[in-house]
Amino acid sequence: MNFHVFTLFPAMFQGPLSESIIKRAREKGLINVHLHDIRDYAEDKHRIVDDYAYGGGPGMVMKPEPVFKAVETQLVEIRVSQPTPSPIPVILLSPKGRLLTQRVAQELSHHADIVLLCGHYEGVDQRIVDHLATDGISIGDYVLTGGELPAMVLIDCLARLAPNVLGSDESTANESHTNGLLQYPQYTRPPDFRGWTVPEVLLSGHHARIETWRNEQSLLETQRRRPDLFEQAKTGSSQESSSP
Ligand code: SAM
Repeated sequence: MNFHVFTLFPAMFQGPLSESIIKRAREKGLINVHLHDIRDYAEDKHRIVDDYAYGGGPGMVMKPEPVFKAVETQLVEIRVSQPTPSPIPVILLSPKGRLLTQRVAQELSHHADIVLLCGHYEGVDQRIVDHLATDGISIGDYVLTGGELPAMVLIDCLARLAPNVLGSDESTANESHTNGLLQYPQYTRPPDFRGWTVPEVLLSGHHARIETWRNEQSLLETQRRRPDLFEQAKTGSSQESSSP
């Protein structure tokens, strides 16, 4: 899986992409993250990438020219490098986008190449939304200073779904949100910590009983902590919209 990230602040990505599972996945070539500085595509000698909003208002808006130039230039290169041509989503990280869920992540994880476009300041010129982005993703109903953290969240979430990134003991199959429910409680040693004991069934070695207990606990956890998900799981419904 190849991520092509367009940002005004590429240095923000260094820490999160250089540790733990994501670091290993990059080292093994299981995922690749290509960072592109939008400022490199600015058309004037001052490398200006933002301007005041028409109609007034606080803050600056990212200009269309450098963003279009950056993304379109790279799209040509990506298409040439693809062994078999496949669609390349251009995802604008945006609080107006469709909400990132595990289901959305699973859908996106099938793409070999994904373009991630990070807004900043007051956001991006609407022509980028209308004529360049093919999808919009929000990581929650709140506003951040830029799309860099959301892009990193999306990369992390998708990387975990890429083949061989997680070891067999780190499978996603039983995780929260994979089947619409929350995961059962987990315990490790010691069996007794300050008088709080591990449920007896988990120490029994009886696999069928353990599985039954986990299924029950998964339902209970979901009902207690996320009644909205519990209701959705019962009716088989979901609430997702799609637009950049
Ligand atoms: N003025 C915009 C609005 O009211 O919708 C918010 C702009 S925000 C300050 C700047 C940039 O941060 C956005 O263009 C987007 O790329 C990113 N961003 C902020 N919150 C986000 C979220 N919840 N999910 C994804 N991206 C977000």
